[in-house]
Amino acid sequence: MKNNNFSKVKVRFAPSPTGYLHVGSLRTALYNYLFAKKHKGVFVLRIEDTDQNRLVKGATEQVIQTMHWAGIDYDEGPEKGGGDAPYFQSERLEIYRKYIDELIDKKKAYYCFCDPVRLTTMREEQIKNKKPSKYDRHCRDLKWSEVTEKLKKKTPYVVRLKIPDNQEIKFKDLVRGTVKINSDDLDDQVLLKSDGYPTYHLANTVDDHLMKITHVIRGEEWISSTPKHILLYQAFGWDIPEFAHLPLLLNKDKSKLSKRQGDVAVEDYMEKGYLPEAMINFVALLGWNTKDENEIYSLEELVKQFDLTRVHKGGAVFDLEKLDWINGKYIRKMQIEDLAHECKPYLEKHLKVLGDKVEKDLINDRYFKDIVKLFQERLVRISEITELVDYFFLKKIEYDKKLLIFKKSDTQKTQLGLEKALERLREVKDENWNQEYLNGVLQGVCQDSELKPGDVFWPIRAALSGVEASPSPVELLEVLGVERSMNRIKKALEMLNA
Ligand code: GLU
Repeated sequence: MKNNNFSKVKVRFAPSPTGYLHVGSLRTALYNYLFAKKHKGVFVLRIEDTDQNRLVKGATEQVIQTMHWAGIDYDEGPEKGGGDAPYFQSERLEIYRKYIDELIDKKKAYYCFCDPVRLTTMREEQIKNKKPSKYDRHCRDLKWSEVTEKLKKKTPYVVRLKIPDNQEIKFKDLVRGTVKINSDDLDDQVLLKSDGYPTYHLANTVDDHLMKITHVIRGEEWISSTPKHILLYQAFGWDIPEFAHLPLLLNKDKSKLSKRQGDVAVEDYMEKGYLPEAMINFVALLGWNTKDENEIYSLEELVKQFDLTRVHKGGAVFDLEKLDWINGKYIRKMQIEDLAHECKPYLEKHLKVLGDKVEKDLINDRYFKDIVKLFQERLVRISEITELVDYFFLKKIEYDKKLLIFKKSDTQKTQLGLEKALERLREVKDENWNQEYLNGVLQGVCQDSELKPGDVFWPIRAALSGVEASPSPVELLEVLGVERSMNRIKKALEMLNA
């Protein structure tokens, strides 16, 4: 039986908390969110923390914070609650036990008392004989009396699913179409581990059923688990949800996205100053596209446009250049106050590192805003701001005097340019100290002294910034202000005259 009722859509994002959120998981969360919103359904966050060896402290908080940062809100889950609580699998152990007992009663699952030594030997034999590595079903047909005997003696055990022989398991994947597999290719899957914890397969299936999940949307790496889950649903006699497996994320060389070739944790991108809107926009397009050519979408637009049937089968290349491009687009669109607000923590941290070299009274929101405005058109990532602005804050800037001389100019003309500019700038009234007026002043210097812009604009810019590339001299003059600008130009002249 299929549950095709879209008016009751309920989906879930079910991460195993590892301490960070993988970009692939962000995409899974996002697609679930978009699908739920699109169909006015419910989006559940369920924490799959049954692997005791992999528990990381604070990992769930990390997932929640990162989802919050990205703007992906869930309707039910940790901290929020909901009708199907608890949402931590580690708090649902009794539930799984109950269902394990049900499966054993129905003879769909069985106790397996094989110890690790036997299993290892069995596996080695199989490898030696080039046989597929599978449990040999040693305990599958134990007599009930033997089972109770062993249980009484407290022999450690696991519980395995009785995979039927030679049965075709078929399901329709909303992305990949019909998927078929023969049950002979499946191992008698462990459902309950010897530590009493369920495996992913049992917990995931039981919870998806109890939480009335209608659509299981998850990464392609789980597709090989789905036939086992279908057998479980059948064993319990439950409705089977719809499945959609999302394409793998790939590096540029088409290998599976890996840490070795770049960051995979969303938190790393956060730290580098990618905006949540840009990250969401970028991740949404990994393996899915809208019908039009546009590439910039807000979360609301994505909700409107999202369509599972347009998700691609083939792997999606994680193209950092595209992320940079999208991030840049969002930065250009921001209100300057908001951009300055985003830059502020990075600037403050950076200026702290520069310590005494910095003029402390320049550390203020107004000045930050004036500076950030000059970079709005060129910033790619927010964190980059720290690489671009030292000279706005330093008490003393240091550079080689060669920097002052434009490649088509010479020392003499540069000296003249700076002297004349200094003279004229001294006369500018405070209220006229703005880019437009200052531009006129420098143009005037060029005309009156028969100098080229390279003899005037370039050395002023170099004198004010001390670096090869910066905003224009008039932008710098305006932001640095009268006194600081004059002092720097004077210093430059002294260097040239020395
Ligand atoms: N706990 C699994 C994970 O870490 C969930 C897979 C699924 O969605 O079924 O991704």
